[in-house]
Amino acid sequence: MTKPLIGLYPGTFDPITMGHADIIKRAVKLVDELIIGVAKHSGKDPLFNLEERKALVEATIDDMGLEARANVRVVPFEGLLMKYAEDIRADIIIRGLRAFSDFEYEFQMVGMNSAMNDEIETVFLMADARYQSIASKLVKQIATLGGPFEHFVPDPVVEPLRRKLKA
Ligand code: ADP
Repeated sequence: MTKPLIGLYPGTFDPITMGHADIIKRAVKLVDELIIGVAKHSGKDPLFNLEERKALVEATIDDMGLEARANVRVVPFEGLLMKYAEDIRADIIIRGLRAFSDFEYEFQMVGMNSAMNDEIETVFLMADARYQSIASKLVKQIATLGGPFEHFVPDPVVEPLRRKLKA
């Protein structure tokens, strides 16, 4: 039997947005198993803790009604991305690409990661044009300022984000 193709989509997901969800929808078509790796921290100070971020990603995937849901797992991880990718025997790392701003950082990451392991390819996907400008950081800013953020996040995120900002 050939080994199933495993994809790892890592991120902070603080919180998951329509942009992330769109990348997940596309990624499931590329691999046999998709592992969504929720990073404990990546030099950022997350609004939602790790458990909350993981739960919101799971709720979003259930809400999306993906046909391939059985092949999608949400797993928290900590430490070096490439090490984690090796541990779970990932074949590809999936990242979303927005505008030029992402490019520079992602370009460097691929360079550094491939120096550590040149077998695991990084694959970039672009979200639908409607979602390309969405960033968790801006969603949080808009929500904090009382602006309409609801269209930028999946339904299961709306109330938890409201509650979190009131707390
Ligand atoms: P990280 O801290 O790893 O950048 P994020 O949760 O911010 O984590 O993003 C995870 C991945 O999803 C990154 O590859 C990022 O570029 C991608 N991404 C985030 N928002 C969008 C979007 N609106 N369109 C496409 N890709 C996105």
